[in-house]
Amino acid sequence: MGQIKKILVANRGEIAIRIFRACTELEIPTVGIYSAEDRGSFHRYKADESYLVGEGKKPIDAYLDIEGIIKIAKSSGANAVHPGYGFLAENEEFARRLEEEGIIFIGPKSKHLDMFGDKVKAREQAVKAGIPVIPGTDGPVSSVAEVASFGEKHGFPIIIKASLGGGGRGMRIVNSADEVLEAYERARSEAKSAFGSDEVYVEKYINKPKHIEVQILGDTYGNVVHLYERDCSIQRRHQKVVEIAPSISLDDKLRNDICDAAVKLAKNISYINAGTVEFLVADGSFYFIEVNPRIQVEHTITEMVTGIDIVHAQIHIANGGNLHEGEAAIPKQEDIPLFGYAIQSRVTTEDPLNDFMPDTGKLMVYRSGGGFGVRLDAGNGFQGAVITPYYDSLLVKVSTWGTSFRDAAAKMNRNLQEFRIRGIKTNIPFLENVVRHESFLTGNYDTSFIDSTPELFE
Ligand code: ADP
Repeated sequence: MGQIKKILVANRGEIAIRIFRACTELEIPTVGIYSAEDRGSFHRYKADESYLVGEGKKPIDAYLDIEGIIKIAKSSGANAVHPGYGFLAENEEFARRLEEEGIIFIGPKSKHLDMFGDKVKAREQAVKAGIPVIPGTDGPVSSVAEVASFGEKHGFPIIIKASLGGGGRGMRIVNSADEVLEAYERARSEAKSAFGSDEVYVEKYINKPKHIEVQILGDTYGNVVHLYERDCSIQRRHQKVVEIAPSISLDDKLRNDICDAAVKLAKNISYINAGTVEFLVADGSFYFIEVNPRIQVEHTITEMVTGIDIVHAQIHIANGGNLHEGEAAIPKQEDIPLFGYAIQSRVTTEDPLNDFMPDTGKLMVYRSGGGFGVRLDAGNGFQGAVITPYYDSLLVKVSTWGTSFRDAAAKMNRNLQEFRIRGIKTNIPFLENVVRHESFLTGNYDTSFIDSTPELFE
């Protein structure tokens, strides 16, 4: 076994570096790609060899250049590609083109990408697997009247969601019947411009839920395990900011039921590789929302509480390995450890005092935290790095581990305080306010916490 000889990472920044590190540990040579704007980016130098991609294309389009990437893979002898998250990670055409060229895609099958790229199709799969979904329309809606009648039947508020939406965008909450017309039209036009399709569907808006998601791994032999859950309720405008593993708000029964539901869904569709099944939890009930068929930003905290390296596992699975056999084997479900608590904060180059406006320029000073129980995953986190406006503003992921949740939070607070960054504004002062807040420390929060707690912005 072991067909994978060399891995190209079709991504940039911290996740590209994260994957190169795993490859190096597994003694697999790596190939990086970089856009013209990323000429000085750190990920370029963390690969064994790197090539310019998408010459003449816009900064983001360079990393979406499917044929350019395939060409680099072939000429460098990379016979596997890891897509990271974002960019081409969930692009069915990319997965299919790699397959045609005989290059291994380190991710699920293209049919899974198809199933989960569209939230309406994903919902259908959840229903088929018999797991609870939020009351919603069975498929896309095609008229204002349909939206209004859903609202009347189930009661407002409701939420209109873009079928192809992602990244916390393409959602519109509708509080009453009078708002339906405008919300429907806006949701459709926003969906069209952001995701290329104006298809939308409707769900009941769950009041003050927690966002709980389950990490799963599946192999080509039908083995599926979960690595427990993450609580990602600390969100700003539906985007995750701080994540926790495991959740401090679930009792054992609810935790088991949610994890079992995720595994049931994955088994039902013979899911392969790493994925995340997301749920909303309110009043002791849980409801499926979507599946992310890829590695996620917050995978670090699951690794810290289980000891399982998810990228190693992804490569092992893509290499045709059995989850529970070989050097990279992981324990059977009942033996997967869960120890302590981990928290991740997403440090971004955004100014919390100016509506999180992205800042750009040179990092004049960059000193990070450290010490026991800390993990840092940075992209361009070094003195002299130039932060450009072209890509997302994630600077470094700070993850801390502790024997108790309070311990992990104290380590996070200390680490954030230890950072010295000059020349570029960051959201660190805001993150400090979050991880010190009593509601955070006691689990007394839901997805509306940040948006409804003005003192966090001071
Ligand atoms: P995306 O793919 O953009 O991340 P999700 O469907 O995963 O979108 O939802 C992101 C967040 O939006 C959730 O974590 C939650 O805070 C909020 N959300 C989505 N659907 C609902 C709903 N029906 N009721 C309440 N909140 C919702």
